[in-house]
Amino acid sequence: MMDAYDRIHQHTSGTHAVIDLDAYARNIQTLRSLTPSCAFMAVVKADAYGHGAATCGQAAIDAGATMLGVARISEALYLRERGVSAPILVLGPPTEASIGSAIQSNITLAIGSEPALSAIQATADRLGRDVTVHLKVDTGMRRYGFRPDEVGAIAERVRSSSLLELEGVFTHFSSADDRDESVTPDQIRLFERAAEELTQRGIDVRYRHVANSAAILRGLTGSSNMVRSGIATYGLSPSEEVPVDRRFDPILSIRSTVARRFALNPGDSVSYNRTYIAAEVVEAADVSIGYADGLPKGTSNAGWFLANGQRCPILGRVCMDQVVIEAPVDMRVGDAVIVIGSGRNGEMTFEDAGRMAGTNNYEVATRLTARVPRVYLRNGEPVAWEHLLTGDRGVLKADVAG
Ligand SMILES: *Cc1c(COP(=O)(O)O)cnc(C)c1O
Repeated sequence: MMDAYDRIHQHTSGTHAVIDLDAYARNIQTLRSLTPSCAFMAVVKADAYGHGAATCGQAAIDAGATMLGVARISEALYLRERGVSAPILVLGPPTEASIGSAIQSNITLAIGSEPALSAIQATADRLGRDVTVHLKVDTGMRRYGFRPDEVGAIAERVRSSSLLELEGVFTHFSSADDRDESVTPDQIRLFERAAEELTQRGIDVRYRHVANSAAILRGLTGSSNMVRSGIATYGLSPSEEVPVDRRFDPILSIRSTVARRFALNPGDSVSYNRTYIAAEVVEAADVSIGYADGLPKGTSNAGWFLANGQRCPILGRVCMDQVVIEAPVDMRVGDAVIVIGSGRNGEMTFEDAGRMAGTNNYEVATRLTARVPRVYLRNGEPVAWEHLLTGDRGVLKADVAG
């Protein structure tokens, strides 16, 4: 019988990422159950951390998210183009030239600096259109946001504008994923004092939000009524200090296929710079994935793929488009391998690859490139796919594809 992955291979013929939308919905439900009195913002910036923002964004809304969060206006416009009509907040500073498009597409903007506020006001005036804004308070990131002592005056300016509607006030934690847990409560105190100032001025703001995934997992949400989560929705841990527990499942796995099967003789070297030299006869396989797909070069001579439940070590350097692994005797051309997955069956995880590459799981996930087609599952069956490089995408009917 043909299983889901065989059907996926018919559509991708090689390296692809599989994203389980049911697991994504479950992760979101788990996060919501941890913060039952809060609205939920699903953070889908950076193409949903490599998982595909259009499909994941809509799936998050379907799973009960109130709002989507992105970093740039261009990301919000992309979601609108792809038919996502839910509220979207651009968390970062808006590019002045894009503010008009954002307003026309009903995108919510974060005001966190005087020039940003002025540019948003001027554009709203010019277009004669309302814009919903969230006020960003800087409580320690020193990136984007007003100092707590500026918040009252800024909120008064927003209130006096007939076109700006202040819907939210928020801050971002610098260290919620740290071993040292002392920083976040101080940031919460600063934020709440600023939010209190708004209340005292009679400025009613619908959403107060502070917590990212790490803060949600640690219960550090203060008195906010919305939370923002990215990494944990994808089933990945914010850090080694703040791991997701077993209620969460990683939702993405990277898969590829064996392109060539061969034997190395003693003394044969593999790949660039001869960093691996066979000491004996070694069965090997060439797999069509490389660092230009998102497999970190740091996994060279360190990582492994999973084939038929067996770990196959990476031999030599990961190239741009190919990598050589040690092959089990029964491996054949066309066989599927798991490059990165949940780890539940012994496969390499985003955390493993991040550690080998001297970075974190966030960076490995977001570096999955446009060359890798994404295939989406519901009920264990492929239901949709897309390929950002070619712009192709489609809906799969599992019962027809076989
Ligand atoms: C990226 C981001 C988040 C999500 O962080 P996670 O650690 O992935 O949950 C939340 N808030 C802001 C402002 C962000 O930039």
